[in-house]
Amino acid sequence: MIRWLDHKAPTDIQLNAIRLRCTINENGCWLWSGVPHYSGYAHIWYAKKSRIGHTLTYELKNGTIPLGHELHHRSTCPKHCINPEHVIPLTHKEHSIAHTDPHFYPCGHPRTSTNTHTSKGKTCCRECNLAHRKRYDNIKRERRDAYWKSVGL
Ligand SMILES: [Zn+2]
Ligand SMILES: [Zn+2]
Ligand SMILES: [Zn+2]
Repeated sequence: MIRWLDHKAPTDIQLNAIRLRCTINENGCWLWSGVPHYSGYAHIWYAKKSRIGHTLTYELKNGTIPLGHELHHRSTCPKHCINPEHVIPLTHKEHSIAHTDPHFYPCGHPRTSTNTHTSKGKTCCRECNLAHRKRYDNIKRERRDAYWKSVGL
């Protein structure tokens, strides 16, 4: 969280200050470097409130989200991408359609039988599921190593 963001400053200055706190990846995503929220989205402390990162940057750039619309990320964006140009406002109906493409998962990977992971009757993208498990295993391994180090082995 950044507490120094002046919400009364011109919006382009605010956006720039936010961008400086991000890592920019090869897709042009602004990856928020703050502590990740359990939801996976970036959270930014702004005008005494905790705001969802991509909603805040969208509003700074374009003004309020049109009534009855929700922001949808580009398929190649991770959830904590807050580049305001990587989200589009969609109605709830359009948004659900965007997430039920018969050929692609929302992440952009193909929805094929070989790339489908099934767990407890639910299906998801196998490639992303594997990447998620790898990250999780790495965290577990690091914690285990740190434990053994702390007991002097
Ligand atoms: Zn992005
Ligand atoms: Zn979406
Ligand atoms: Zn995927």
